[in-house]
Order: sequence, then structure tokens, then C-alpha cells
Amino acid sequence: MHSFRYRDGHLYCEDVDLVHVAEQLGTPTYVYSAETILDHYARLDAALAPLDHLICYAVKANSNRAILKLLANAGAGFDIVSGGELYRVLAAGGDPAKCTFAGVGKSPEEIEYALEQRVCSFNVESEAELDHIDQIAGAKKTRAPIALRVNPDVDPHTHEYISTGSHQNKFGIALDRIGAIYEQAAKMRNVEIVGVQMHIGSQISEAKPFASAIGKVAPVVRELKLKYGIKFLSVGGGMGIIYQSALESGSGKWWHEHRSESFAFSVRDYAGAIVPPLRELDVRILVEPGRFLVGNGGVLLTHVRYIKKTDAKKFAIVDAGMNDLIRPALYQSYHEIVPVCRASAATDAGAEKVDIVGPVCESGDFFALDREMPELHEGDLLAIMSAGAYGFVMASNYNSRPLPGEALVRGDKFTLIRKRQTWEDLMRDEV
Ligand SMILES: *Cc1c(COP(=O)(O)O)cnc(C)c1O
Repeated sequence: MHSFRYRDGHLYCEDVDLVHVAEQLGTPTYVYSAETILDHYARLDAALAPLDHLICYAVKANSNRAILKLLANAGAGFDIVSGGELYRVLAAGGDPAKCTFAGVGKSPEEIEYALEQRVCSFNVESEAELDHIDQIAGAKKTRAPIALRVNPDVDPHTHEYISTGSHQNKFGIALDRIGAIYEQAAKMRNVEIVGVQMHIGSQISEAKPFASAIGKVAPVVRELKLKYGIKFLSVGGGMGIIYQSALESGSGKWWHEHRSESFAFSVRDYAGAIVPPLRELDVRILVEPGRFLVGNGGVLLTHVRYIKKTDAKKFAIVDAGMNDLIRPALYQSYHEIVPVCRASAATDAGAEKVDIVGPVCESGDFFALDREMPELHEGDLLAIMSAGAYGFVMASNYNSRPLPGEALVRGDKFTLIRKRQTWEDLMRDEV
């Protein structure tokens, strides 16, 4: 369930009118719903209740401290991919003992820091990395808890840039190599084998690939449990969300009160596919959702700055750009875009096709092409939906555009959780 709904012609986030947020904070601004994020967390937690489990939120999806704090308070652990993310998690009150450290290129400084903070596991992606971790832990006279990331070689049927579990990818260690590398790890004096990990990709829209991957890895888990007494299996993240509702296209309706479901497949289907095989393994199960928890918990508010008509096209040029939200440019992603005030912009008549583009000097700077929209005018306020994950975290200062602000809604209140940058901020670190 997400909490963005029309009420009296205005789009609300929980009990907050998004018009008010735009008036007070300006645009472009990201707005997140605490209720939505916590609802997603609670549903997944309940679905996994038959297992000894821990939800480790993938921080890279949205790393604002206020979001991390919400999830830490709900009991979440964290999947981190850098020292900076660990630093943020600690600042948000997260428990390092519930943190797993992933990523193919951990630096010596990051490994040292994570050892000092006593993360629960280093998820190791190569033999070279394993050697380094062993050496660094030795120098610090400690032992590093490790899990190897196994690449189960399944096709998750998702965009090639976000597919990670096939043998073509840089991620993980092949199934037929994994036993040998665990044997090496077992001989190392400064590492302790604690688990095994996998992650097959992102925005996966069916439960089946998860079940196939678990099927392939299960025999390995049994063997590792016998040999080394591993304590956990992490099945990774990657559960997909709904970006485009079936109702929308061609129906002449730009938003539908009924589309409040967030997930590409139901949490029950996911749990139904993975819980029974995992239960038999009798180890702790970690899951690492990012997008699933926060994706449909956020929108990007933007104003239409100009309308431009050419012989070929009508363009709505908005004040957000690809530097604020790069997903359409990077992954050809679809985001629903809706007018915040239905009264001013949307009637079922007046549908027209329009390109919704940003001000950045790149042809790739668009949010939607040939999108059927109600007639748009200068000054209209739009919400780019499903922008809670891989939105702000991928924002840049390209074209010397200050980073947008971020706000968090709880009930009928909203708070600024990150100020919009100023022009001075753009040069602050230059020497
Ligand atoms: C990115 C990532 C995740 C989260 O992916 P989502 O698709 O956002 O759920 C989880 N685990 C690892 C190792 C990742 O790299």
C-alpha cells in the first residue's frame, strides 16, 4: 500500500496536501511517506515470520538519515556498499551488528572501518578481496566475519543494467568455484566463515527467479552448514515494484484511486515461493530489499516552467532534470506523472501527447516521451511517482544545478530532511 491519493482534487501524501509542500519548499523536491515505507517493511516482516529472519535495508536505494532512522527504529538491519553508507547508518542510530557489507571494490580504509565497527558480515565477491580482508583483519589483530557471494546464474528477466545473477556479470562467485574458495577461507587465520549470500538483480517482477536461485544454492548451504557451521543465508533484494499501472495507458485517466498497491507481485506470492525451501535449510535468512521498501514511498514534485510547441511535438519543460532523477535516462524507466491539482490541469477531455523534459542540455534529459496527459499549462505542479528509490541518491550537480530538497511526511505533518542546495554549495569544496 502506498499513501499518495487524491482528495478534493489535490494529490495528498498521507494527510498532507502536496500543493502546500511545493509552496513552502519550492520545486524540485522529493517527498517521502513514512507510513508507506513502514507499511512495506511490516508486510515483508510479517510474510517472513515463519523464518528466523532479518530485513537488511539496501541503503543505496535511499540513504537519507531520516529514512534510515525510520527503518532502524522498526528493527531493520542494513545492507551497505561503502564506508560512507556505514557512516550514515551509524549516524542514524543503526546497529552495526545488523549490517552486511557488500560490493565488489571495497577499499582498505572501508574494510578497516567496517572491522572497527564490527559489522555482521563482509559479503565477499572475489578471492583477491578475501585475501585483502584476511590481511587487514590480521594487521588489526581481529577476525573478519565473511560470507561469499554466490552467483547462481539465473536470468531474473530484468533490465540488463540491473541484472546481477548471471555468469555474465561482475558480481559474485560461480557455483562451481564456491566450494574451493570457502576451503581457502577456512584456512585463513583472520577470517571467520559466517554465511553465504546472493543477489540476482533488481526490479524483478515475478517470484519464480528467486525460487530457482534458492533451489540452486540450497545444496551449497547444506554443505557449508555441515562443514563450517554457517549461520545465515542472505537471499539478496531485487523485489520489483509497480511503476506503471495497467489501468493508466489509454484509459484517459491519469490517476486512479484504486492503484494503491505497490508491488509487482504480492508479498504473499514472494513468501509463498521462498519460505518453504528456506525453512528446511534451518539457518537465519537475511533479505536485502531496497526499492521494494522505499520506491513507491516517494515522489518528485516539479513545476512546468514552459510549454513549447513545434511542428512535431509539444514539450512541457519542467524544473526537475535528469540530474535530479536519472532513471528514465539511464534505464529507460517508466515513471507515472500526474498533475497534483486535478481541478486545474486534468479533465478527462483534452488528452494530448506530450514530452515531459528537463532543462539540462542533453537530449536524454526527459521524464516521459509522447505521454498521454491532460492539457498542461505553464505553472502546473506535477508529481513524478515512484521516485523514492534510486532517485535522490543518484542526483548530481550536472549543469551546476543545486541538488533538490527532500521532505518526509508523517500523518498531517511534513519536515524538511534535506535542504535544497544553494549556488554557494556548488563551489564549497573547490580550492
Ligand atoms: C542493490 C542491491 C540490493 C537492493 O536491490 P533492490 O533492487 O533495490 O532491492 C540488495 N543487495 C545487494 C547486494 C545489492 O547490490
